[in-house]
Amino acid sequence: SNQSYRWRRVLLKVSGEALAGDQAQNIDPKVTMSIAREVASVTRLGVEVAIVVGGGNIFRGSTWAGCSGLDRSSADYIGMLATVMNAIFLQATMESLGIPTRVQTAFRMSEVAEPYIRRRAVRHLEKGRVVIFAAGTGNPFFTTDTAAALRCAEINAEVVLKATNVDGVFDADPRRNPNACLLDSLSYNDVMSRDLSVMDMTAITLCQENNIPVVVFNLNKPGNISKAIKGERVGTLIGA
Ligand code: UDP
Repeated sequence: SNQSYRWRRVLLKVSGEALAGDQAQNIDPKVTMSIAREVASVTRLGVEVAIVVGGGNIFRGSTWAGCSGLDRSSADYIGMLATVMNAIFLQATMESLGIPTRVQTAFRMSEVAEPYIRRRAVRHLEKGRVVIFAAGTGNPFFTTDTAAALRCAEINAEVVLKATNVDGVFDADPRRNPNACLLDSLSYNDVMSRDLSVMDMTAITLCQENNIPVVVFNLNKPGNISKAIKGERVGTLIGA
């Protein structure tokens, strides 16, 4: 039974940067394997898990836009394709552990994955399958954080769990300021007004407007993903 669980259906956001681990390559298979193991352990307990993957480990549109004639939209489509690579890698890893997993892309790539169909995604979740949403929102000028907020709202997931390489949200940049403190919880307005680089404004606004709490936590600490999915205290909680 999943009675003791706080969340019934979650949207796990895995950034591309987190997937890279400490590898020089784009993806660290140790990271994808540990994600798969932890997700497996909670799906077996009945928690429904949808995942939005980023692509920043391979290609980030904003850093390439403007480089020798590459316009922003084209750069962003390349970025969205990068998320599909991560999604397929993660799917294959999950399936190697016996977790039924479907990838749905925001634009059609029918030979590779299902197209995004909301009702079908929900049906997969109800049947205990993990659904990985790829290609972001399908629109340039957006991010996969915004895709996470959007898909979370669409499929009625209860929370966005944002897996990153840091322990949560700090009151200053912990890489520059040794006195930076990890914040236990904060409001959407804090995130926006204090310019805490947690999520872009579009994403955080979408969460606020739809009352979606966001948990920011460190993916690299063993057990953290399952803790976050089980609703145990981990990282920083952003809410009303
Ligand atoms: N992207 C986009 N629209 C979306 C989501 C993503 O154009 O709805 C592109 C954008 O170029 C972005 C890239 O895909 O830089 C990779 O996504 P993101 O930077 O959000 O990945 P993350 O930071 O999570 O690794």
